[in-house]
Amino acid sequence: MNQNKKVIIIGAGIGGLGTAALLSKRGYDVTVIEKNESIGGRANIFTAEGYTFDMGPSWYLMPDVFEHFYDLMKEDINEHLNLVKLGPSYKVFFPGDPDYPVVNIHSDLDKDLETLEQFEPGVSDKIKKYLKISGEQYKLAKKSFMYRNYDSVLDFFKWDIMKEGRRMNPLQTMEKYLNKWFKDDRVKKILEYTLVFLGSEPKKTPALYNIMNFIDFHYGVYYPKGGIYTIIESLKKMNDKHGTKIMTDTGVSEILVENKTAVGVRLEGGKVINADYVISNADLHFTETKLIKESKHQTFPQKYWNKAVMGPSAFIMYLGLDREVPHLTHHNLRFAQNWKDNFKELFDEPSLPKDPSYYVCKPTHTDTNIAPEGKDILFMLVPIAAGMTVTDEMKKQYRDKVINMMKKDLNLPDLEESIVYERSYWGDDFGRDYNAYKGTALGMAHTLKQTLLRPGNKSKKVKNLYYVGAGTNPGIGMPICLISAELAYKRLENITHPHPLTDLDG
Ligand SMILES: Cc1cc2nc3c(=O)[nH]c(=O)nc-3n(C[C@H](O)[C@H](O)[C@H](O)COP(=O)(O)OP(=O)(O)OC[C@H]3O[C@@H](n4cnc5c(N)ncnc54)[C@H](O)[C@@H]3O)c2cc1C
Repeated sequence: MNQNKKVIIIGAGIGGLGTAALLSKRGYDVTVIEKNESIGGRANIFTAEGYTFDMGPSWYLMPDVFEHFYDLMKEDINEHLNLVKLGPSYKVFFPGDPDYPVVNIHSDLDKDLETLEQFEPGVSDKIKKYLKISGEQYKLAKKSFMYRNYDSVLDFFKWDIMKEGRRMNPLQTMEKYLNKWFKDDRVKKILEYTLVFLGSEPKKTPALYNIMNFIDFHYGVYYPKGGIYTIIESLKKMNDKHGTKIMTDTGVSEILVENKTAVGVRLEGGKVINADYVISNADLHFTETKLIKESKHQTFPQKYWNKAVMGPSAFIMYLGLDREVPHLTHHNLRFAQNWKDNFKELFDEPSLPKDPSYYVCKPTHTDTNIAPEGKDILFMLVPIAAGMTVTDEMKKQYRDKVINMMKKDLNLPDLEESIVYERSYWGDDFGRDYNAYKGTALGMAHTLKQTLLRPGNKSKKVKNLYYVGAGTNPGIGMPICLISAELAYKRLENITHPHPLTDLDG
């Protein structure tokens, strides 16, 4: 029986906190050790001059996956989170399009088909059929693939995976798949933009991620009032209830290994804490190449990372305005005119995008309590390539360029004068704050190879060492990291079936 066993979790990101909550509830003795002053990892928060900024995630997608996690914890999600469904889900700006420079997507098929018909007359039937297949694939993915722990490549040759997996289009790319269905570039862009959430690009992402379109159009987009950080606060509350110990401002410098078994961690100050199990929520590159000191214990040594495709980094601006900008909605996407060149700048020929796609979140659209009365917050994000060196001068020039673009694209002519608080955040900040390899905002991209052969959550070299979070299965995103927490839990409990748990005992 594993209960009462001592578990150390390195990192208090969503994956770390989720795993801790599940294990503590089950009776394990869990300590989470976080290097930063605040918990939450990339889903962090800061307050300045009366404005409260969520620092990272802003899209609450896959409400079904969140609900499932709370069900497992035997908690009512509505007592934890004040969820509001956004309407419209988001606004898309197509600069240079003389007919439809701005459209709304509602996640309400009748309304959305009207919009998409304008772009590609006759597309409605195709969209309905496409989303039907995508919905079936999403259900299949949840039932048989996303909640499954994989042990080796050979797993893919198991009969049930081969049989059901064929229905998921694993070997085709999203670009090719969408080209078969649709003609109009704007329709394809709307269906492709979600891939940026996966840190990948259409020509390299397997078509199985068309399930993102079902998630987008069927479930819609939610926002927890008070901000995304209320999810972190809620995870903390559940951890407190079940006795998890959380240490902040405490970096781990080494995972201790004896006889090929993880036996605890060394803290940056030198102190040793022993444990029966170590689970690392720190980025996998950092865990494997920095926290595991001896190369013979590294399942993924540096040479693995030299070939890995990292998801983009980001240039983010947190802006507090002295007024409201009512014409923007909660989520606003500005799509590059030359879509392919923009992806090239993100992956193949790293450079600051000349005509970037960018995203602007105005959370005060839904939640006026997070800013002084009558004032808006804008969170602006431009995906940029991971691993680029960006000098202070380049940062300044790029900031000015993006502000000028926002003035024009988003019809905010007096934006500059309206800014009363401003903070910028770049790749080197991700490196410093989260030990992110090449300053990636998201972790390893979901390319075909890095989806099918994504690093598993169990060390192949060190017993009792596991991983959780965006770097392992199933991958990037808050709800996905909660699935990852369930997968880590299954490892410790030796639960081998591939389906979501119905209860903590299986
Ligand atoms: C800008 C941005 C926008 C995003 N937008 C969305 C979105 O809209 N919707 C969505 O669902 N997802 C979004 N994501 C993705 C999502 O935020 C992440 O996938 C998820 O939060 C990652 O969680 P994680 O469990 O992998 O841990 P992380 O958040 O990566 O946390 C890992 C933790 O480990 C800690 N750590 C590292 N090294 C050590 C050490 N040596 N000792 C102790 N602690 C250590 C770090 O400080 C960190 O707190 C976004 C991410 C970013 C950055």
